[in-house]
Amino acid sequence: MRPFTFTSANNKDQALQASTATSYYLAGGTNLVDLMKEDVERPDQLIDVNKLDYKEITSNENGGLTLGAMLSNSETANNKEVRMKYPLLSMAMLSAATAQIRNMASNGGNLLQRTRCPYFFETSMPCNKREPGSGCGALKGMNAQHAIFGYSDHCIATHPSDMCVALAAIGAIVEVQKPNGASRMIEFTDFHSLPGDQPEKDNTLMQGELITAIHLGKPEFSDHYYYLKIRERSSYAFALISVAAGLQLKDGVIKKIGLAMGGVAHKPWKLTKAEDFLIGKKPTEENFEEAAELAMKDAKPFEGNKYKIQMGKNAIVRALTQAFEREV
Ligand code: SF4
Repeated sequence: MRPFTFTSANNKDQALQASTATSYYLAGGTNLVDLMKEDVERPDQLIDVNKLDYKEITSNENGGLTLGAMLSNSETANNKEVRMKYPLLSMAMLSAATAQIRNMASNGGNLLQRTRCPYFFETSMPCNKREPGSGCGALKGMNAQHAIFGYSDHCIATHPSDMCVALAAIGAIVEVQKPNGASRMIEFTDFHSLPGDQPEKDNTLMQGELITAIHLGKPEFSDHYYYLKIRERSSYAFALISVAAGLQLKDGVIKKIGLAMGGVAHKPWKLTKAEDFLIGKKPTEENFEEAAELAMKDAKPFEGNKYKIQMGKNAIVRALTQAFEREV
């Protein structure tokens, strides 16, 4: 690991003032420290933000909850109010990594996880995300775990978070503090970016901005929800495919729906066409199958990940069926 300076911030202003182009904020460090050990991330300075106040879950003016960015994933997922009002989010968060990692990882840090593409971690291999302009080892290499939507010639990596797939399905707003101390609100679907010709960027944060809160709207899917995660091991593994499904039913038809996929793109992938199709429809297997066909229609797989097409369709149908049949 390379030398770096360590700054412990006592409050938001100290953290923002200490920030430079080559520094990172440190919360749980469950991803960042690993990447530093592998020489993938090379900050000159870490700014410890663990003493900052953003560790609460509070009610907000939209009838929902606001999650503090420095709260751990475990504390959030196991919180009584979160479990009652946003069980889909809780279920997705509890499927991530291991209990030990969830105890350390922060909510803000979860949004900033970097891809688990093996070429990104292997510094002897080309990787545009790690070393812009060096090429993409996965394009013609091992790409079984890579994207089938929204990628570019520069990068075909996927986003690894489970929490973020649930947030994409239920909707959220990310609050960040700008270096001048002002707040900025970012719609969750705009927070993460597609690789385009800047694969080194994972999100739309500007330099020095600090995530302080995640605002959730009025709960809509507390009765019918399911997070399905398909992975190679039952613990400590990232999703090959995941689906977050939330349904609101009225008079036997679907009134509202939140549907998003993980493991298929550089960002949590909202299944808008499938959502639009299912609004006003009955929650039948035939309708779920048609929605799954629509959702996967534009997928473009690589040699190693063609299996994701059928797996994705099956996962969508299964997640929707489980959400519908779930008895609360
Ligand atoms: Fe790097 Fe992205 Fe290519 Fe993986 S897919 S090697 S992260 S550029």
